Amino acid sequence: MSVSAVGSFWLSPSPGKLPRPRMVVRSSAVSVAPILTHLQKQCATPLPVLRHVADAMAADMRAGLAVDGGSDLKMILSYVDTFPTGNEKGLFYALDLGGTNFRVLRVQLGGKDERVIATEFEQVTIPQELMFGTSEELFDFIACGLANFAKKEGGKFHLPSGRKREIGFTFSFPVKQTSIDSGILMKWTKGFAVSGTAGRDVVACLNEAMERQGLDMQVSALVNDTVGTLAGARYWDDDVMVAVILGTGTNACYVERTDVIPKLQGQMSSSGRTIISTEWGAFSNGLPLTEFDRDMDAASINPGEQIFEKTISGMYLGEIVRRVLLKMAEAGALFGEYVSERLSTPFILRTPDICAMHQDNSDHLDAVGAILYDVAGVKSDLSVRKTVVEVCDTIVKRGGRLAGAGIVGILQKMEEDSKDLIFGKRTVVAMDGGLYENYPQYRRYLKEAVTELLGLEMSKNVVIEHSKDGSGIGAALLAASNSKY
Ligand code: ADP
Ligand code: MG
Repeated sequence: MSVSAVGSFWLSPSPGKLPRPRMVVRSSAVSVAPILTHLQKQCATPLPVLRHVADAMAADMRAGLAVDGGSDLKMILSYVDTFPTGNEKGLFYALDLGGTNFRVLRVQLGGKDERVIATEFEQVTIPQELMFGTSEELFDFIACGLANFAKKEGGKFHLPSGRKREIGFTFSFPVKQTSIDSGILMKWTKGFAVSGTAGRDVVACLNEAMERQGLDMQVSALVNDTVGTLAGARYWDDDVMVAVILGTGTNACYVERTDVIPKLQGQMSSSGRTIISTEWGAFSNGLPLTEFDRDMDAASINPGEQIFEKTISGMYLGEIVRRVLLKMAEAGALFGEYVSERLSTPFILRTPDICAMHQDNSDHLDAVGAILYDVAGVKSDLSVRKTVVEVCDTIVKRGGRLAGAGIVGILQKMEEDSKDLIFGKRTVVAMDGGLYENYPQYRRYLKEAVTELLGLEMSKNVVIEHSKDGSGIGAALLAASNSKY
């Protein structure tokens, strides 16, 4: 049914905090219930859908390993083919440019016995305007933050004389790695549209900015957040084989045998293994999508790209919910006669908001009511609030379950090449990212899907474990194991 029956006249002036409302003309009034039912049907992820996604993920991985450009999945070589041993010693820095935040960290490593002697970190939110500015502006901001942090070094942190401070640089965007300490940005994702970086070596961009800041440090390892997480988790546990980030965006990496990577054309690493970054955010095969996903994609700065990421990651879940609520408001008068301008504003409802609403166990769903009022500028009664929570649950359930299917796809691919070495023993998947960390229902749905796909017995061998801030320490560890000294 068409949603075009939306009045466009204004009521003014608007009272209090509420933005100026638009009137809903309910000539074609559709009730909200069928919209919800239809949504739930379209977003359903029964076992056959999960299985298809897992199988397609495994097949796409194989195609991406065969030849560059062979698949949606870029299957990027990380140039990380040895893991931290525990013997790493000294002072190292890590710098993490993610999507929402930028973190700096220092760690004093004490070798096998003392391990991590001390760590300190700081986190800065990336100002919105820098996401659309120039490469110089963004990297100057990062180098400046790093310089301020480095100034505060003291206490347990010591740099031996004659050495530069070395950095593990975590850069969570698709990079064509050219060595362990250089890589070309292929494209920005997660809403970034910085000019002048794509096609350039991001380490050179950082080095130039550090020089402009008069900061004498050097990058010894360039890794993405998944690789950092894998290395960090593996420092403590040899069974870690896969790492997955679910934050603003999403990606996964895993330990691969070099002899099953045709595009390496025989260049084996001495360990016979290497970490591959799947760039699974670009996966798109057989996903259960809705009109809301398609409209959001069409309005995005990278239409047609990163479809898996747009379905399962933190940047987008709140926005999908907002789009559903807007349709329910316009076509079904969910919030009464008027549609608030705020509800019509893209990305105004964030994933932490839907997460907070989803946690509300109160009788009257007061938190849901408060968030709807504060964020979307709408008033609601209990039944409306229940509908809103149902919408959140539907979108988050689909996201979590699809992420779980993706993980099984990776494990399945590994098992196909190394019979019984994955499902036949303990295998750890290290998880990190703000979405996974903070959204309990998402985590539960993800794990349920993994268990459904693998069955109870086999899934006992697969440990899905949160590796908190593993990526920062992991990047520092990789700087240490790739030290220039
Ligand atoms: P990145 O490194 O990609 O910037 P993080 O791992 O720090 O991201 O995660 C930040 C993202 O996590 C936010 O963009 C948001 O989508 C999600 N997030 C943060 N807090 C919450 C929360 N309380 N509930 C749900 N999602 C959250
Ligand atoms: Mg991150």
